[in-house]
Amino acid sequence: MKIILLGPPGAGKGTQAKRLEENRKMVQLSTGDMLRAAVAAGTDVGKKAKEIMDAGQLVDDETMIGIISDRLDEPDLENGFILDGFPRTEAQAIALDTLLDVKDMKLDAVIEMRVDDEALTERIVGRYTCGSCGQGYHDTFQKPEVDGTCDKCGSQEFSRRADDNAETVKSRLEAYHAQTAPILPYYKDKEMLKGVDGMADIDEVTAQIEKILSA
Ligand code: ADP
Ligand code: AMP
Repeated sequence: MKIILLGPPGAGKGTQAKRLEENRKMVQLSTGDMLRAAVAAGTDVGKKAKEIMDAGQLVDDETMIGIISDRLDEPDLENGFILDGFPRTEAQAIALDTLLDVKDMKLDAVIEMRVDDEALTERIVGRYTCGSCGQGYHDTFQKPEVDGTCDKCGSQEFSRRADDNAETVKSRLEAYHAQTAPILPYYKDKEMLKGVDGMADIDEVTAQIEKILSA
């Protein structure tokens, strides 16, 4: 299966992508994670992206399309993939179609995760991640079973993203509504768009996605 999880920052795309990795052995392709790795490694792309990400704006289409094109050429995608955070503009959506054509790949579904803006800020500001295995958590909604210890790998190191603060969230939500939400009709017209209620609890959202993928 090859799918796009489309939704605003904090909608739960990464949380559900990680579950699809575990349950279906699909691969999460998170452009946000790729950019954060580039920033940490100090590459040219990372240097260029850092300020833009800290401001909650979008990195330019050419850079992002290049990153995804290279990633789709890697040999680990035989069980499919979940695009998480890409495409984010109409130009990226159109370029993705061309890339998939050239690489002889076909999307199975585009799943929109719908969450109210008011809930998103709380989700983003409370988000943190295991520094060792990347498992996601939330101060209120997804706590580890033993306080301060990762359920998955036992690590006690956690990190929070530089851009997960109330001011940057505002710009990120503006960017979503201005630049990303307008691509929903693009997939609706192709009859590929499915919706899930991202306001539901995490297990319920997983069940809704499974239902779509098993149909
Ligand atoms: P995205 O990848 O779309 O930016 P995440 O998957 O990182 O969003 O989720 C943002 C935060 O919200 C995380 O801390 C996660 O634990 C929490 N979260 C994810 N899905 C839900 C949900 N359905 N209900 C409540 N909290 C959620
Ligand atoms: P995310 O981890 O998906 O929340 O992305 C974090 C940040 O990375 C975004 O706020 C953007 O600055 C940048 N980014 C990630 N994916 C894209 C993309 N497809 N197009 C442009 N910018 C992106």
